[in-house]
Amino acid sequence: MICIIPVGEIEQSNLFDLKPKLKEVFGLEVEIKEGLDKPDYAYNPERKQYFSTSILKEIAKTSYKDCERVLGVVDLDLFVPSLNFIFGEADIWGKSCIISVSRLHQSFYGLPEDQELFQQRVLKEAVHELGHTFGLSHCPDPKCVMHFSNSLKDTDIKSHNFCKNCKNLLKEQKKFKE
Ligand SMILES: [Zn+2]
Ligand SMILES: [Zn+2]
Repeated sequence: MICIIPVGEIEQSNLFDLKPKLKEVFGLEVEIKEGLDKPDYAYNPERKQYFSTSILKEIAKTSYKDCERVLGVVDLDLFVPSLNFIFGEADIWGKSCIISVSRLHQSFYGLPEDQELFQQRVLKEAVHELGHTFGLSHCPDPKCVMHFSNSLKDTDIKSHNFCKNCKNLLKEQKKFKE
């Protein structure tokens, strides 16, 4: 089962759409678990952003036994020291990953909000990070969900599905982990 853990304040309606879609993509049950508090410990006042890796560690500690994978979702701007910002981060070969929906809102860029586009972006980022937890790395196919998103343009070009290659890899990895 894939468990979704909201971290800090996040609109629950942003998560409900993820449930059926993630189930469809990974063939696993999906459940929204109790959330974690706002991650003040991860705040960097100079950058005015939150350090992704320290939140990821907290997510990994939520050891729900029934969760094969844990996806943390935050509505805060995330960073790692080497990058200006990140959409998400994953424990490759681990159980946990995190995505930030903050930069997926059109309103982040001063544009009118587009709920459908937003939901699509959330799904793509979630599938991408979960894909990493199954050992998948970045894919050169710009349509594949495992393609690296440098910007939202890349996110909007790719689909929420794995290309044939990645799909086969995922199948193998899932078998391997069982
Ligand atoms: Zn990635
Ligand atoms: Zn691919």
